[in-house]
Amino acid sequence: MRNATATAPAPADEPPAPLATLDARDISAWFGDHQVLDRVSLTMPAGVVTSLIGPSGCGKSTFLRILNRMHELVPSASLAGEVLLDGDDIYDTGRRLVDARKHIGMVFQKPNPFPAMSIYDNVLAGLTLTGIRASRDEKDHLVETCLTKAGLWRELKDRLRAPGGGLSGGQQQRLCIARSLAVKPRVLLMDEPCSALDPTSTRVIEETMLELVHDVTIVIVTHNMQQAQRVSQQCAFFLASHGTPGAIVEHGDTEAMFADPIDPRTFDYVNGRF
Ligand code: ADP
Ligand code: MG
Repeated sequence: MRNATATAPAPADEPPAPLATLDARDISAWFGDHQVLDRVSLTMPAGVVTSLIGPSGCGKSTFLRILNRMHELVPSASLAGEVLLDGDDIYDTGRRLVDARKHIGMVFQKPNPFPAMSIYDNVLAGLTLTGIRASRDEKDHLVETCLTKAGLWRELKDRLRAPGGGLSGGQQQRLCIARSLAVKPRVLLMDEPCSALDPTSTRVIEETMLELVHDVTIVIVTHNMQQAQRVSQQCAFFLASHGTPGAIVEHGDTEAMFADPIDPRTFDYVNGRF
């Protein structure tokens, strides 16, 4: 019997999936015997942008990769804890990796479109990987919808057959966002998505995030404290001090955390003291 998800038509005309809450519970992580996260719990509510901040090496990217089952791709990696998407553990043994990826998309620091592939095919690349079928009209519609959401349609609509690798860095990153959106994720994880970009492209992507959060729950890792304040409603401060594994020192409402942090280490970090 064929899997219903695999044979479903393209989601172009479907109503958007309801907003989802992602709940990480007691996440610990290791590479070999090196523990890099220690019992991290964080609820990333539906329809909210959550920022993960903290010094390099404190486990932010590892945490993000655990949220969509990328951590397990590293042979030496192991983890404990649960990741619940609206209450369902994405690590349940019966669940397929591809389903977790379909619901929880990822955008990386370095834009990574398929360089020789057309802009059009880049947007649709995830459909093949997740087994979604679509007619030509549905594909055309999906490409327009996703490029529009990523703020690229107007500038690229006459160049859809041009290779993705020919775009500027900011456009490439927005193309990657469009590609993530094509499979209708319920959560979008973004690991320092603007750190390789100029201020103008950064601003465009921030505006895109603020629009997208009406449709998708967003988690972003950023080293830019102004960016965390501009885009996120919730913020979590990670720290791995003196060789201890990374843990959350403090989390909560972004404005409150920047204006009046509870922990002196948070105060120092958000004020650029380390
Ligand atoms: P951050 O994103 O906060 O800079 P990372 O999650 O990248 O931190 O790294 C956390 C720790 O895990 C670091 O000590 C890093 O060296 C280690 N680490 C990350 N990826 C790997 C890997 N693939 N193999 C071994 N150690 C890793
Ligand atoms: Mg990182």
